[in-house]
Amino acid sequence: MKVVETVGDLRKTLAEYPRLIGLVPTMGYLHQGHLSLVRRCRADCATVAVSIFVNPTQFGPDEDYQRYPRDVPGDLSLCENAGVDVVFAPTVEQMYPPGDSTLIEVQGLQDRWEGEVRPGHFRGVATVVAKLLRMVCSERAYFGEKDFQQLQVVRRMVRDLVLDVEIVGCPTVRDEDGLALSSRNAYLSADERQRALALSRALQTAQQMVAGGEQHGVKLTAMMRSIVAQTGALQLDYAAVVDPGTLEPVEVLSQEARALIAARVGTTRLIDNAALVPPAE
Ligand code: AMP
Repeated sequence: MKVVETVGDLRKTLAEYPRLIGLVPTMGYLHQGHLSLVRRCRADCATVAVSIFVNPTQFGPDEDYQRYPRDVPGDLSLCENAGVDVVFAPTVEQMYPPGDSTLIEVQGLQDRWEGEVRPGHFRGVATVVAKLLRMVCSERAYFGEKDFQQLQVVRRMVRDLVLDVEIVGCPTVRDEDGLALSSRNAYLSADERQRALALSRALQTAQQMVAGGEQHGVKLTAMMRSIVAQTGALQLDYAAVVDPGTLEPVEVLSQEARALIAARVGTTRLIDNAALVPPAE
């Protein structure tokens, strides 16, 4: 496995590897969720590249950029064991050289849900993902459904900018008790972790209600809210039932929709989502 830090070395190194190349962009502190993307990429592609970069432009001024968990040596050994060929671990200066002033906005999609709570977040995401895609020039790039809005923002950007890459979405990996794996779970105390289970419980209940014939977005979101409220010590940012492509709220489910939920547990923000599939008629 080769580890490179500069765009020049990345290009030179990748030229020695066979196509088709797959990229798995990450912010590091890797867990089984990230590794599921790597496994999928390994199965699909001749060459697997992983980027590890905690992207400052997607964090707000009061967010956790400085304290975001980092463990590059641990990440490299997980990558090595997972059969990664090339790790790109650039410095901030490599990604944002002095004078860099270009930003990418995916208007509309970037403004709702996470974008409302974290203004500028998706501008940072779209900008860094566009740079990574141009630097690696992979045929495919793998993203988790865990960050469902991010996946849709990236898909839209790739379509609108005619970037020559296929975006592959991969299912959310959860702990046995249902909690979606996240690098930020490292912040949770045992008690907070227990409370955080309300998010996946709310989503599961929504799935069951929809499977049982419930079609009304407002009833589903009211139920999700009440599960979070009953748990206590959780601050809900939003619970929504949306169209998977536009992320606009759905009033009456006639086809597959997505339930989105985000809450703060202590000082930690957690997000989760799930597909809502109405029963076949
Ligand atoms: P991050 O390091 O949090 O930026 O995540 C890097 C990639 O891993 C993103 O595409 C995430 O959606 C994906 N990811 C994070 N957690 C999970 C999970 N529990 N299951 C599947 N994919 C995940």
